[in-house]
Amino acid sequence: MKIIPLGIWGGYPKANSATSSFLIQEDGFHLLFDCGSGVLASVQNYISIQQLDAVIITHYHHDHILDVGALHYAKLIQNQLHEQHKTLPIYAHDQDEQFHSLSYKEHTKAYDLAKTSQIGPFTIQTTKTDHPAYCLAVRLNAKGKNVVFTADTALEKSLIPFAQNADLLVSEANLYQEYEGQIPGHMSGRQAGILADEAMVKQLMLTHLPHFGNLNNLVEEAKQTYTNQTTIATVGKTYII
Ligand SMILES: [Zn+2]
Repeated sequence: MKIIPLGIWGGYPKANSATSSFLIQEDGFHLLFDCGSGVLASVQNYISIQQLDAVIITHYHHDHILDVGALHYAKLIQNQLHEQHKTLPIYAHDQDEQFHSLSYKEHTKAYDLAKTSQIGPFTIQTTKTDHPAYCLAVRLNAKGKNVVFTADTALEKSLIPFAQNADLLVSEANLYQEYEGQIPGHMSGRQAGILADEAMVKQLMLTHLPHFGNLNNLVEEAKQTYTNQTTIATVGKTYII
């Protein structure tokens, strides 16, 4: 499984960048994970829009869905230009009225992520996170390799068995340790490290990052409890799991 970070920011993108998002590839299948601001521009550095096979949306906060509208128009235009009728499936939970707005004419179609067990080559599991908006963490399995994405969440006990023994945990780290308890629904680097340690994952990648401070401190916080490899997600780097 190949994972390419497309953006790493929480809330909004920095200049010429994107909010937290990933392109995940297996056997020529291209899965886009979250579609916030800047993501549609970023993904085209790697594949064309028509090469996208599926999209996962974890929840309906702007920094995870804002480019879905642009994706609708991109599919409309590319289907017309290529005289194709490729409908792109978008998987997201249906606990929000915006679920229905994910479908656009014949160009995209929404499916309930919580009721989905397979997307292309990926086996899918989900669990609800602790976040102000209803949000799903996602576990992907392909060819025996497991990657868990926390999406947006506070440190939530149910994530420990959910992430157990994953080959890679992609965790949000939107806070520095000193902000724990002040901003609901997010984790610090320290808490991401606790989750990685207790779930006994093989490596930890941090994303959904804050817009201030020294990001390397998030890694140092995680290393207080988690001793395996910990990195900040690097945009454009291909991680092979
Ligand atoms: Zn959120």
